[in-house]
Amino acid sequence: MPAKRPPDSAPLDAYRAKRSLERTPEPAGTIAPDGGGRLFVVHQHAARRLHFDLRLEMEGVLRSWAVPKGPSYDTAEKRLAVQVEDHPLEYGDFEGIIPAGNYGAGAVIVWDRGEWIPQGDPLEGLAKGKLLFELRGYKLHGMWTLVKIKKSEKDWLLIKERDGWATTEPEPLPEQSVLSGLTVEELAAGHTPATRIIAELDRLRAPARRVNARDVELMLAEARDDAFSKTGWVFEPKLDGYRVLATQDATAPGLRSRNGNDLTPAFPD
Ligand code: MN
Repeated sequence: MPAKRPPDSAPLDAYRAKRSLERTPEPAGTIAPDGGGRLFVVHQHAARRLHFDLRLEMEGVLRSWAVPKGPSYDTAEKRLAVQVEDHPLEYGDFEGIIPAGNYGAGAVIVWDRGEWIPQGDPLEGLAKGKLLFELRGYKLHGMWTLVKIKKSEKDWLLIKERDGWATTEPEPLPEQSVLSGLTVEELAAGHTPATRIIAELDRLRAPARRVNARDVELMLAEARDDAFSKTGWVFEPKLDGYRVLATQDATAPGLRSRNGNDLTPAFPD
């Protein structure tokens, strides 16, 4: 018999409280005394030239570097990182198209995002031209250094430090946005996360009708006498977690637990 599951919401309350604390937005245009938050974002930006923008939250803003070739897990690859203007914290959520005629016109995706952990005082490091930090993202992990090129105004190098994540033969990192699953090309072409799903539903000639999420029952695991197997299926052990129904209406996405609880605030990403 499986162990009795904890009530749906218990561990979520703590998580939710932590997230809402972390994610309280700074009022626009102000600079907090010490940032506090440690958000990092890597945008991929199809401007005149395709490049990456590494952004680190410091003093309530996103300090930013344009990295033409993007980060590499090879410690021998020193990637040029040109410091550019600070961006407001809210820009960490931006994914979309900067309209023609504006600076940086072109498509932008959130290529990676997470928490950065500076080793030592980051403001001192910034002033001295050497920042050592850990990244805890979806694609980027482990220790990294930003080191300023001597006698240069804005040119830095982004270098992977030796650790368990470093490798001399890095695999190409996934191209897709960690928010939408779209590549920067797909976003530029006007796709949305639903484009592929809609095409598949059309192909299957699914009937179009309004669905009320409250009327939808979640599929649950059930016991069978015989083990099931079939070519093309992959099996994995059932790990603890939440069975969740994801919904999308005209206004917003939502997540509901099997008991009908709203889990949306607990998983803002
Ligand atoms: Mn850019």
